Amino acid sequence: MSTPAKAPTPLEFHCPRCNGSRLEEVMDNVTVMSRIFVHEVDGELADVNYGDQTNENGEIIQFQCVKCGAVILTESGSTINTYEGLFAWLKSHQP
Ligand SMILES: [Zn+2]
Repeated sequence: MSTPAKAPTPLEFHCPRCNGSRLEEVMDNVTVMSRIFVHEVDGELADVNYGDQTNENGEIIQFQCVKCGAVILTESGSTINTYEGLFAWLKSHQP
């Protein structure tokens, strides 16, 4: 029997500018597939709502704070756009 794999632990994010705790990824050139619901009123198109979405492809532009939009930068001031770079930044900014 092998040792059971450890459950991944989410790293905390604290925005350097506003201390917000939610981190988001910004991507470009992404193909998005969405389930949609088309609504009518009196026979006319009224609204389109989105359900589940899946993404394909795309390149990471940056990671940023959801609350204030502060972009996560390296010590030398360049934008972090890889998961490895983000992981290193988060590891050095844990409480
Ligand atoms: Zn912030």
